[in-house]
Amino acid sequence: MSLTRPLTLIVLLALLAIYLLRAPTPPQELRQSRLLLGTVVEIAALGPDQARLEAAVNNAFAEIARIEALMTPHQPQSDVSRLSAASDEATVASETAEVIALGLQVAAASDGALDLTLGRVKALWAIESETPRIPSSEELAEALEETGPAALQLDGRQVRKAAPQLAVDLGAVAKGYAVDRAVAVLRAAGVTQASVNAGGDIFLLGDHGGRPWRIGIQHPRNDQQVAATLLVADQAVVTSGDYERFFERDGVRYHHIFDPKTGRPGDRCQSASVVAPSAALADALSTAVFVLGPEAGLALVEKFPGALALVIDAAGGRHLSPGLQERIEWP
Ligand code: ADP
Ligand code: MG
Repeated sequence: MSLTRPLTLIVLLALLAIYLLRAPTPPQELRQSRLLLGTVVEIAALGPDQARLEAAVNNAFAEIARIEALMTPHQPQSDVSRLSAASDEATVASETAEVIALGLQVAAASDGALDLTLGRVKALWAIESETPRIPSSEELAEALEETGPAALQLDGRQVRKAAPQLAVDLGAVAKGYAVDRAVAVLRAAGVTQASVNAGGDIFLLGDHGGRPWRIGIQHPRNDQQVAATLLVADQAVVTSGDYERFFERDGVRYHHIFDPKTGRPGDRCQSASVVAPSAALADALSTAVFVLGPEAGLALVEKFPGALALVIDAAGGRHLSPGLQERIEWP
């Protein structure tokens, strides 16, 4: 008897060890796409429980749709439409106020290269329509009246316009913000590894199997090629480029990122990619850097902790924030 007791104990301990050390359920990947924010939004999430992943991803898409409904200019009741229609001020949702606050911060830091009041300029070019056109200088000058970093004032959820005709366009920041919101929903559901990609506005949650995620930056003049690969984890990567939405006339490319000083498409870059702690910040910065060009653009990014940029200038030259060197691979 005295011998069997330790034996039983050993067997029980061995069984316990086998139970504790058994291979964990391998993580499954769930990948889904939906048309939102005027683009294809793809969410890929990893986790052990498929049903929970599915619920989390569904809720993340629902959150993006909720943000889009607040900030789209295409629905008359959205915050952005009400603000554009208002003669002096409007009260907006806290989410919209957050986007405007960030936009105004980057607008001020970039000497107005980011401008949340280019709604009329954008409408004149109609680049995303079937019938884009080149506006006259007079039309552009009129559409730019009263625009600029001081055109909107934010007080809590109240937004005041400097002039009644100002039309608000949050297109340079809202997509990134919606990506951040989707990531917050995934996190709250216990997801620790995921990517959310809204047409090039990407957030990488966690790492990728113990390694950084590898994000290819499209070559601006050859869509079969990557210009560089960025290694990132728990960060956003957002690219603004002149190759996504544009039309050509007489050999000239007219795209959708405007220099607020002229009302015409910015001509200093082919693309600007920004790595940052949030997709909203990366989105706002990528648009501003694109307008500013490599030198002023990299200086702007330096003002924001954790932000780094890769700029491809108008001639195809590459420019990097110093900290990006060790996190980039060239083809
Ligand atoms: P994408 O929409 O391709 O991700 P961006 O984030 O650079 O690219 O946003 C471009 C959009 O932002 C335009 O479609 C327009 O709505 C708006 N926009 C264009 N130029 C500016 C600017 N200088 N400042 C703020 N918003 C801008
Ligand atoms: Mg942007």
